[in-house]
Amino acid sequence: MKHNTHIYIAAKATEFLRDSVNNLHTRTGRMASAKTQRKVKTRAKELQHLLRYHAQDMAEASWAPDDILCDKALYHTFKLFTDNEFPRGRRYARETHNVSGVDYHRISGGGGLPYKVDHLARTIADMQKLREYNDQFSQKQIMYLLFLISHYVVDAHVPMHCDIRDDPPSKKDKTKPPGKKKYYSDALHGEIERIWDAAVTPVAMEQGIVVADTYKDCKAETDLSPCVRFDVGNRRHRDLITPTNIPNRGLMNHMISVCVRSKERSLQLFPVGNPGSWRKDLLGELTREIFADAIGGVVGVWLWIWGRS
Ligand SMILES: [Zn+2]
Repeated sequence: MKHNTHIYIAAKATEFLRDSVNNLHTRTGRMASAKTQRKVKTRAKELQHLLRYHAQDMAEASWAPDDILCDKALYHTFKLFTDNEFPRGRRYARETHNVSGVDYHRISGGGGLPYKVDHLARTIADMQKLREYNDQFSQKQIMYLLFLISHYVVDAHVPMHCDIRDDPPSKKDKTKPPGKKKYYSDALHGEIERIWDAAVTPVAMEQGIVVADTYKDCKAETDLSPCVRFDVGNRRHRDLITPTNIPNRGLMNHMISVCVRSKERSLQLFPVGNPGSWRKDLLGELTREIFADAIGGVVGVWLWIWGRS
């Protein structure tokens, strides 16, 4: 995702943090019990207050991994392929995850996004515990890192970040299965993220979430803007934000399944037979789903971290 989109989703996760607990569900998709919801709601209320108190760090922290840490190739992706796309591709698999009976292979150099989220989330939870024990780390540092981790969680929801086909291999590249027609143009990844940022920016500006640096930033809404608009006062919008109550030992697997869902969406957008001619007609519907899942996804990881301390 691009700059304003990351800031917007971090702001929306903060906005929906408390109310989305009404839609909290288990990993298997069942509604969480009323008792669990009550417990988590107390946690969500406290965390929302703290995130709002430190909201001045949101814009920088939610963007820092792209701009300051510059660990894109390492941790912003989880590049997967299936036997259906590349029937003789298994020798390129660095590791394989079987989800709902389907093997998803990750290539060498395909990014370790779920591992980064798991590790960073546990580090933030440890910082909170140390803070209570011996006063190490400030609440400001911890809130900064919560905004920062939202970046990786949001990137896991981008179909192109979880698909090897967004970047055709050169002749020298032996890390990916060959087959030019099986890949889509590497320009499409950036183009779709630009379309999303153009849809988000006027909505985020109108709500004061991002500010214009120059008059050039002030543009009208696009056709896709209604698909990225989420307002906590709107019942239909609230119904779409459905965070998972992630089990203590389940964060890594949860993030892997988020990436697998993104891979599946990529297969919808860029069909196996002809990935180059992508399904523009599906973009509105998928954008709505992706943004709602990204907001709920950030809420789920934040609540997991806050539940450890
Ligand atoms: Zn990124």
